[in-house]
Amino acid sequence: MTAISSAGFSVNDRQYQPPTRPIAVLCLDGCSDDYIDTAIAKGRMPILKEMIETGFRAVARGALPSFTNVNNSAIVTGVSPLKTGISGNFFLDPDTGEEVMMNSAKYLRCGTILAAASTAGRKVAMVTAKEKLRDILSRGLPLESGQAFAFSTEKASEAQPETHGIGDVEEVVGRPQPAIYSGDASLYVLDAGVALIERELADFCYLSLTDFMQHAHEPSEPEMLDFMAGIDEAIGKLLDLDCVVAATADHGMNFKVHPDGSPNVIHLETVLTEQFGDGVRVICPITDPYVAHHGALGSAVTVHLDASLDCVEVATFIGSLDGVTEVLDRKGAVRELELPADRIGDLYVLSGQNVVLGRRSEDHDLSQLHGRLRSHGGRFEEKVPMMISEPVVAKTSDLRNFDVFDLACNFHLSREQA
Ligand SMILES: [Zn+2]
Repeated sequence: MTAISSAGFSVNDRQYQPPTRPIAVLCLDGCSDDYIDTAIAKGRMPILKEMIETGFRAVARGALPSFTNVNNSAIVTGVSPLKTGISGNFFLDPDTGEEVMMNSAKYLRCGTILAAASTAGRKVAMVTAKEKLRDILSRGLPLESGQAFAFSTEKASEAQPETHGIGDVEEVVGRPQPAIYSGDASLYVLDAGVALIERELADFCYLSLTDFMQHAHEPSEPEMLDFMAGIDEAIGKLLDLDCVVAATADHGMNFKVHPDGSPNVIHLETVLTEQFGDGVRVICPITDPYVAHHGALGSAVTVHLDASLDCVEVATFIGSLDGVTEVLDRKGAVRELELPADRIGDLYVLSGQNVVLGRRSEDHDLSQLHGRLRSHGGRFEEKVPMMISEPVVAKTSDLRNFDVFDLACNFHLSREQA
């Protein structure tokens, strides 16, 4: 067995002192506590059940808006969106006036824990289900030299040594890449992590799943339970390899429907244009290429207003709409939601547990949805599980999901101090 580096490192004003064991940090995309609790109660996650009995489990708070890019960026850096600069999947670039995807590493404003661990001598692997996350999460990794790996299951077959650090992913994992709209897209991520650690190619892994299954299924559905059992099996393999396993989520998931099952949407741009005329632009930061998940409908949007409109008047009106739970001006969003001022509009709006915010009906294609609309983005999807295979003494009661690398690397320090 080759030696695992125990060199400490610091990044974004946080210290990490990883033990000489492989570390696997899992982001169980869209996996709120109800998924974990239901699967454990039904006997489908016996390994995870035992892991948290001997280790650690708590509720953590994610970053807002409770979207995937926002939280994955926070998790790999250990800091909030205020510092990462990643405020959504999608934003209005103030420099160009264009609406653009925020999935390029150029938008990330700070270094990652993964890159720092690599510099400190760890063999780092970043595996994500969705290709949209790969560039941001692999920022600063020495992929060209093959000293680190970063790939997605969505494009596993296209991975090349010069750009991904590895070229034969399908051979390493032992099966062809799965479809992105599948549970296997996530299980493949975990299997890739297991294979890389087993072959001693990696000893510091970030494994980020996709929430396709959570968008399509509630916790007690048989398909969901089978999927959770698959995650449990993979966690077992990681534990057998003596990994420190740490799992959290980027956000939870809720039905966003009326009692009759139809989508419960406030088309905010339409509503505001009727009330105030032109000069309103609503940006849905959940917008991404995976429309079958959510039709670009989430519980958080930002509103850009022309100078002719009165910000307070518009905010007051939005606040009066049934289903809206919070309206913040830019300063308020920076303070309350930890968002970067230059990557959001004049107002930030969050909606209720069963309500989503959209732009105009023609901007949201719901024809490809799998079943009733389930989505996320607001406060009701902010709470997520935090589970570690080791007995951790948490330093704070306000645990964040982006503390997960801290707990996975530094758990032995807290034990020594305790
Ligand atoms: Zn997600």
